[in-house]
Parts: sequence; structure tokens; C-alpha cells
Amino acid sequence: MGSPTVPGLTTPTRKALDDLMSRRLNTLVPLERATLATVADAIPRAVPSATKMPCLNPNCLRKVTRPKAGRLPLFCSRSCREAFDYERAELLADIAVLLQAIERGEGTHAQRRKVLVELANRRWCLQRYAVPPDRNRPELHAAPVSDS
Ligand SMILES: [Zn+2]
Repeated sequence: MGSPTVPGLTTPTRKALDDLMSRRLNTLVPLERATLATVADAIPRAVPSATKMPCLNPNCLRKVTRPKAGRLPLFCSRSCREAFDYERAELLADIAVLLQAIERGEGTHAQRRKVLVELANRRWCLQRYAVPPDRNRPELHAAPVSDS
């Protein structure tokens, strides 16, 4: 018995996905063949870069449109950029306080448990603000690519 499928939907969807994956830049040009010539040649055939992306402020639902030229904005507005930077800095400061308390280690088991739970909660929030302040090269801070 196979898994249930939706006739007429699953197969074309699978084919579209396969088409899309075979047109990714990293599939068209394997890493060991990447030169300016091979990559420049492949770019027009590859799945294009998105022209709209969500605003980086996790509390914002707006999209940011990529301009034809010039600096590529990460936020829909200055207020979203400022809100992001403010919240990220506050979360980092909160986490520093929690880590300091854990390191000092004075208090009851229940107090330690309370601080550990709050640390996990603040880290959960901070994961939405993981883009570093020097936002120009995010691949340096991304998880390493696994080939397994
Ligand atoms: Zn925004």
C-alpha cells in the first residue's frame, strides 16, 4: 500500500518541483565547475531570484520589493528597521542578564529552573532576529551546507 495521493494533482506538482529543482543555479553549475563564465551563462536559465521578500521585522506582514538597482532593502520602512534593531538588542541584553544569573548560581533549584525556562523563551524570540548587525554577508552566519 502506498501513501494516499490526490489524482491529477500529485504528479504534476511533483514534476513541477523536479523542474524547479533542476533549474536551481547550484544544480545547473556544480560547485567544482563554477567560474564567472559558467555561472554568468547559467543565470538566465536558472530559477530567478525573488523580486519580493517579507520584511525582516518578524512583527511586520508587508513585503519588500527588490529595486532594479542600488542598495537592497531588508525592511519595508525605517520604523521596521529600528524596531528590529531595538528588539534584537533588548533580547541580547536580557539573555546576558539570564546567563550571568545562571553563572553566579546562587539561589534555589526552583529559581534556577525559572531562569532557565526564561532563557529558553528569550532565545526562542531571538531566533527571529538572527540576522547579524552587519547584514551584508548573511551566508557567513548561516548554518553550514550539509552534503549528506
Ligand atoms: Zn516592515
